[in-house]
Amino acid sequence: MQMTTWGIVIREKELDDDRILTILTKEYGVLTAYARGAKKLRGRLLSSTELLCYSRFVLFKNRDRYTVDQAESDTNFFGIRQDIEKLALATYLAQLCVQLAPAEEAAPEYLRLLLNSLYLLEKDRRSQPFIKAVFELRILTMAGYMPDLVGCRCCGDYEAEPMGFLPLSGELVCPNCSTEPEEGMPISLEPGVLAAMRHIIYSDFDKLFSFTLTEFGLQKLGAVTQRYLQVQLDMPLPSLDFYNSLFAFSG
Ligand SMILES: [Zn+2]
Repeated sequence: MQMTTWGIVIREKELDDDRILTILTKEYGVLTAYARGAKKLRGRLLSSTELLCYSRFVLFKNRDRYTVDQAESDTNFFGIRQDIEKLALATYLAQLCVQLAPAEEAAPEYLRLLLNSLYLLEKDRRSQPFIKAVFELRILTMAGYMPDLVGCRCCGDYEAEPMGFLPLSGELVCPNCSTEPEEGMPISLEPGVLAAMRHIIYSDFDKLFSFTLTEFGLQKLGAVTQRYLQVQLDMPLPSLDFYNSLFAFSG
């Protein structure tokens, strides 16, 4: 059976002259497809099957296996490829899609989130910490890890200062209510950071990237979203480690 879909390559493994692609598609979610001869220098699939290439794919499905018949590239985010930091961040966002986007079912909102984030990253329309934090919290929310940020889980207070966030349960707790030792110390959230988190999980997609935060607030936001993601997913994320390692020695 032949099928056509728009999709972006979110993981690529090389095998001799071939590539094994993980593609995030609009209609079929995440799928794995074999691109025969895609590493050949003059191969017609060479440039359209690279990591982060957004292409119109013609796939052939035989039982559970897909092969790429054709791929016409729409964009390959060239501006990201030329910048090691941007490429590292983009690779991490793609890895989160591999882990969290659904397989074999439509995933237009995941595709939209990734494409929009890569566009903003490529054009420097938003800073890297901003894009990273928004993407982390939004994709977790979409994938069933939405935290409960309405108010304190015990008394319901929604504007206590500072509110504490519990990454293990994804709940808020105010300074007047207590927590159990096994839940760890709540992460203290300034009002601006909590407002940003609420915006990221509750806003319509069209407004997702439309908020501002001070640089200090953005640092705090990024620390919370990354911590929450690591606690919730509890799995190795080598692309995140690599991205963070780029900043480890630069001060
Ligand atoms: Zn409370």
